[in-house]
Amino acid sequence: MSSMSRRSFVGLSSGVLAATGLVLAGCGSSSSSSSSSDSSSDSGFSKSSYTIATDTTFAPFEFTDSSGNFVGIDVDILAKAAELTGFKYELNSLGFDAAVAALESNQADGVIAGMSITDERKQKYDFSDPYYDSYVCMAAKAGSGISGYEDLNGKTVAAKTGTMGATCAEELSSKYGFTLTYFDDSSLMYQDVLTGNSVACFEDYPVMSYGITQGNGLEVVTEEKDNYSTPYGFAVMKGKNADLLSAFNSGLQQMKDSGDYDSIVDKYLKG
Ligand code: GLN
Repeated sequence: MSSMSRRSFVGLSSGVLAATGLVLAGCGSSSSSSSSSDSSSDSGFSKSSYTIATDTTFAPFEFTDSSGNFVGIDVDILAKAAELTGFKYELNSLGFDAAVAALESNQADGVIAGMSITDERKQKYDFSDPYYDSYVCMAAKAGSGISGYEDLNGKTVAAKTGTMGATCAEELSSKYGFTLTYFDDSSLMYQDVLTGNSVACFEDYPVMSYGITQGNGLEVVTEEKDNYSTPYGFAVMKGKNADLLSAFNSGLQQMKDSGDYDSIVDKYLKG
């Protein structure tokens, strides 16, 4: 992905600004507060500001709205957790695979990106409590006549690099005889299906169904509820940033108890 498409957002944990939804957005390297070894004496956190990485287009969890604001369920949950518990952060919209790579290379302290909590990932990352249930589905262009995996034989199918949907697709590809093509970005993956280069794609169901209601031109063909059903969690590297993780969990619990969690989800899913 080009460096131009990377965007940073400085999260404000002070109540008033966060509550009014004001987010400072800037392109490129915003680095006003991201010294990684700061010890923050007043906040009680090990860093004065955490760097959190996220996806680019994964609505309704993170996406740029029609006014150009970077919004979504993940964005709001993170902002609310920070507001409630007092940590500061900068949110970097990198793409899913790049966000995980940033975490692994110590360029990010945490990832919130509709990231599925899997047993394999739990070997490497510590996850927060789950905050949203999800599973993988396959979608095709609406009206294309693709009605199951049998129809994929000899065809090209799109998947998103590093995702659970890609793992699912990889497992099915040899059995059903299709070839995979990879994208870093969900919207580019959908585009490949709409143009007919790929006959289908694998995506998380909540994201696909939201996209369909927004008129993305696709339809769900299969739902992988048994083997590819896992909730989303906020991730840090195993054994690192425990204070950030526990603050996130504490904020999440408070949001669930107060009804703020439901309000955030409803804001995106019920308009
Ligand atoms: N939930 C999927 C995963 O964790 C996809 C996440 C995403 O594309 N942002 O693999």
